[in-house]
Parts: sequence; structure tokens; C-alpha cells
Amino acid sequence: MPHDKPSARKPRPAISMLFKCCNVYSRVFLNHAGNAYAGHCPRCARPVRVKAVPGGRRGRIWIAE
Ligand SMILES: [Zn+2]
Repeated sequence: MPHDKPSARKPRPAISMLFKCCNVYSRVFLNHAGNAYAGHCPRCARPVRVKAVPGGRRGRIWIAE
């Protein structure tokens, strides 16, 4: 990607998550270990965790049932 400049801090990867409990969208960020996306519902704080798959699965919307 020619427009990508190398930078000291990379943005943390995130996925879009639909929390069905409250019907709200939120971003869920990769954890420190880099093996899962972990976050919680912005409304009811319900925890959610999605295993990170190397090489993909971005650009789709995840649903926390
Ligand atoms: Zn919720």
C-alpha cells in the first residue's frame, strides 16, 4: 500500500460488533496477546470475546448473540 507511512504506533486492529442484547454497534479491539478481540457492550457491559483469525475476517460485522 503506497500511501501507508510507517509509523511508530500502529492503530490497534478492531472489528465491528453488533450487540444483540441492546441492539447497538461498537468496536471491539484486539487484546494485548493478539489472539482475540475482546470488549464489552457499551450499554450493559456484557463481555464479548472473538477469537482472532490470522489473515482475515476483517471488514465484516460480528454479532454478539
Ligand atoms: Zn448490551
